[in-house]
Amino acid sequence: MPANGVPGDAKPTGAGGASLNFIEEIVEEHNRTGRFGGRVQTRFPPEPNGYLHIGHAKSICLNFGLAAKYGGQCNLRMDDTNPVKEEVEYIESIKRDVRWLGFDWEDREYYASEYFDQLYAWAEQLVLAGKAYVCDLTGDQVREYRGTLTKPGKESPYRNRSVEENLDLFRRMRVGEFPDGARTLRAKIDMAHPNLNMRDPVMYRILHAEHQHTGNKWCIYPMYDWAHGQSDSIEGITHSICTLEFENHRPLYDWCLDQLGIFHPQQIEFARLNLSYTVLSKRRLIQLVTEKHVNGWDDPRMPTIAGIRRRGYTPEAIRNFCERIGVSKFNGVIDMSWLEDALREDLNRRAARAMAVLNPLRVVITNYDEGQVESLEAINNPEDESAGTRKVPFARTLLIERDDFREDPPKDFFRLAPGREVRLRWAYFIKCTNVIKDPKTGEVVELHCTYDPATRGGNAPDGRKVKGTIHWVSAEHAADAEIRLYDHLFLKPDPDDVPEGQDYRVNLNPNSLVVLKAAKLEPSLGQARVGNRFQFERQGYFSVDPDSQPGRPVFNRIVALRDTWAKIEKGKKK
Ligand code: ATP
Ligand code: MG
Repeated sequence: MPANGVPGDAKPTGAGGASLNFIEEIVEEHNRTGRFGGRVQTRFPPEPNGYLHIGHAKSICLNFGLAAKYGGQCNLRMDDTNPVKEEVEYIESIKRDVRWLGFDWEDREYYASEYFDQLYAWAEQLVLAGKAYVCDLTGDQVREYRGTLTKPGKESPYRNRSVEENLDLFRRMRVGEFPDGARTLRAKIDMAHPNLNMRDPVMYRILHAEHQHTGNKWCIYPMYDWAHGQSDSIEGITHSICTLEFENHRPLYDWCLDQLGIFHPQQIEFARLNLSYTVLSKRRLIQLVTEKHVNGWDDPRMPTIAGIRRRGYTPEAIRNFCERIGVSKFNGVIDMSWLEDALREDLNRRAARAMAVLNPLRVVITNYDEGQVESLEAINNPEDESAGTRKVPFARTLLIERDDFREDPPKDFFRLAPGREVRLRWAYFIKCTNVIKDPKTGEVVELHCTYDPATRGGNAPDGRKVKGTIHWVSAEHAADAEIRLYDHLFLKPDPDDVPEGQDYRVNLNPNSLVVLKAAKLEPSLGQARVGNRFQFERQGYFSVDPDSQPGRPVFNRIVALRDTWAKIEKGKKK
C-alpha cells in the first residue's frame, strides 16, 4: 500500500466483531440509545451544477453503504436551490452515475425545490417568533458587518424591525416587489457569536430567475443552511453525512431545527476525498471542460464518474477503493495509485488477455513457409481457468513492439537484439539474424529472424533457456486499431503547487493523452464491443471507447500493468 494516505482511524470492534469506522460507531450508539428507534435513513444530496466526481463516489458509497449495512434506506436528493447554475443535463448524469456505481434509490428521488412551500412557511414561522428579520444591507455590507474570527460583528440597523414589518416585507419579497439583492431574510441569532455562521446568517435571497422545476413561481430562494437541514427533517433523515467544511455549520443546522421544533437529524462530518494528480472541485472541472483543456465531462482523463467509466474503470474497483480508504475526520490526500491498484486487482481477475502491438516493427521469419498459417493456442486468463483458450494465427510476417528490439542492447535488456533468441508468447523461439534499415534515415524497418520448430508452445526440448518473452501479431491477420494512452492530468501530485500569481492550470500535463494510430491487434479484438475490457499482455488494461467505428476500434488504456510513476520516482532517488 502506498504510504501517503490519510491517517487511519482508531478501529474499535463492533458487536459483530468487525471493526467500525467512526460514523458506524455513532450509528450503533444511536441504535443502542434508541435515539432514532433503530432507524437508519441517509441521503446523497448533490447540487446538480456539474457532473459527479470520484469524491462524490465516496459520499455515495458511504451513504448507500451505511443504509444497507443497518437495514435502512438512502435517498437521492437534488439540492436544487440555485436556479442559475443548475441544468437538467446534470440531473440526468447524476442519476446515471449513481446507478452505474451500483446503488438504487428506488422511488426516493427528491428535490429540495419540492420543499420550497414548506421552507417558506417555516421561515414565516421564524419571523412571527421574532427569530428572523428582513435586512436591507447589501451583500458587501452584510459581509462587512459580520466581523471576523477575532472581532465581533455589528448588528444590522434593520435587525429590530417589528414582526409586522418583517412579515409584510418578507411577503413582498416573495411576490417580487424588490429587485435582486435588495433585501434578504436573516436569522436573528447573535452578532457576537464566536461562530461566524451564527451571526445572523442569510436564509433567503431575492433572485428573479426561472427554476427548472418550479418555473417562475419563486423569486426568493433559500440558502443552503436554511434548505438543507429542513429538507433532511422532512425526509426523516437520521444521519445527515457531509464533508468537514460543514462542521462549523452544524450549530446553525441544529439551531434551525430547534427553533422549528421539528424532527432533528444528526449531522456528521467526514473528511472529503482528495486525490493526487487531479482536482476534485466542480468549479474547476467545469473550467477544464469549458476552456477545452479536456474533451468534455466524460474525457477519460477526468476524475468524473463519467470520465473514469469511459476510461474503463469498473464500479467494483471504485467501490473497493472507497471501502479501502475508509472515512476519517482528518483532511489528507490519497495517492492516485490506490485507485489504480484497486482497478488492477479487479481487472487482473476478470479481463481477458490479448496481444496488441502498439508501435509495430515488421519481423520476417525467413525459415517459415510463405503462405503457411498455424493456429496456436493461447490462454485467455491465467487467473480464471473458466475463461478458456483461444487461437492466434502465426505466419511468416509478424509484427512486434518496436521497443522490444534494440540494435545495441544495454546490459539489462533481455528482449530481441541482433543474434539474440527470445520467446514469442504462445508460439516459438525466434532468433534475429538480420536487421534491415531505411537507407536514407537509418531507421530499422524490418528484422529477419529464424524460428525453431521444436519450440512450439514456448519451450525448447533441448532445455535451452531464453531470457525474454515478447508479444506479437501476424501482420496479415491483425486488426487495426487506434490506441489512446492516458497519463495523469496534472504534472504535480498537488496541482495547486504553483509559482506565485499562477493557478493550477499551469500544472496541466501536456502529454496526458497520446494517440497511437497504427496499432495492430490479434484478430479477435477487431470484434470487441464498446465497454469490453482486456489486458494487453505486457502493456496494461484497455477498454473499447465509444468513438470506435466498425472495423476501426479505439482502445483506451485504463491503467498500465505497473505504476510507472512509482518507478520513475524510485529511479530519481537512486
Ligand atoms: P464540489 O466541491 O466538487 O463542488 P460539492 O460539495 O459542492 O462539491 P455537492 O453536489 O454539494 O458538491 O456534493 C454532494 C455530496 O457529495 C455532499 O454531501 C458532499 O459533501 C459530497 N462530496 C462532495 N465532494 C466530495 C469529496 N471530495 N469527498 C467526499 N464527499 C464529497
Ligand atoms: Mg455543495
